[in-house]
Amino acid sequence: MKIIRYRDQHGAIRYGAQQADGMARQIIGDIFGAFEVSQEKADVKKLLAPVVPPSLFCIGLNYRRHAEESRAKIPEFPVVFLKAVTAVQNPGDPIVLPRHLRSDEVDYEAELAVIIGKRCKNVSKDEALDCVLGYTCANDVSARDWQGKWGGSQWCRGKTFDTFAPLGPCLVSKDEIPDPAALKIRALLNGQVLQDWRCDDMIFDVPSVIAFLSGSTTLLPGTVILTGTPHGVGFARKPPVWLKPGDAITIEIDRIGALANPVVEEG
Ligand code: MG
Repeated sequence: MKIIRYRDQHGAIRYGAQQADGMARQIIGDIFGAFEVSQEKADVKKLLAPVVPPSLFCIGLNYRRHAEESRAKIPEFPVVFLKAVTAVQNPGDPIVLPRHLRSDEVDYEAELAVIIGKRCKNVSKDEALDCVLGYTCANDVSARDWQGKWGGSQWCRGKTFDTFAPLGPCLVSKDEIPDPAALKIRALLNGQVLQDWRCDDMIFDVPSVIAFLSGSTTLLPGTVILTGTPHGVGFARKPPVWLKPGDAITIEIDRIGALANPVVEEG
């Protein structure tokens, strides 16, 4: 099932199920518990990020060829960082280039996002996918100057500016994606393909990441996990490619769809 979250014409926030004909029907109930798809047409005024995560975990350097282009060693354990939930952005809404705390090196990262479906802790790799509700596309937008030079050796500052975590366009339930490693993932900047790779290049696959993150740590329903980006990011290009006002950046994943965001300046 493809689940969307949206605002209707009365301002109410609802969930809907996308039908094969492109129309969506309203969901009644809790997508993390019991729900049903009604016959009522979803009156979608504005598409929203598919969940409001209680926390947003991210894995860095998780694709072999991206680790190579970053001149980083293959990590022994997953490289974990977090984004604040205030960084979440809706499909179609802008990525805002920071100007108050200025960055001139804002980069894109196409990522498969896992959405946790139930409270879990100390999950084994074999049980890990049982805890997943579904998947969506993410853009791990990254201010490289704040991630590196001025970040105090932590990535958090450069990764968690407002709008730096676009999610969407929909949540695809796990039954439609039995093997996330088989997915293909792309980033297109103004229509030009800059990342185009396969999720089977992940160093730590989705079950391994969930097992690691849930170790002695509770993951709540709705938790979003960004699973890393393949090679082809802007900083590793010659010359480097940075997002600029007027750009349009799109993340595409097979079976999920396209997450498109324009780029504007803070002002
Ligand atoms: Mg990333």
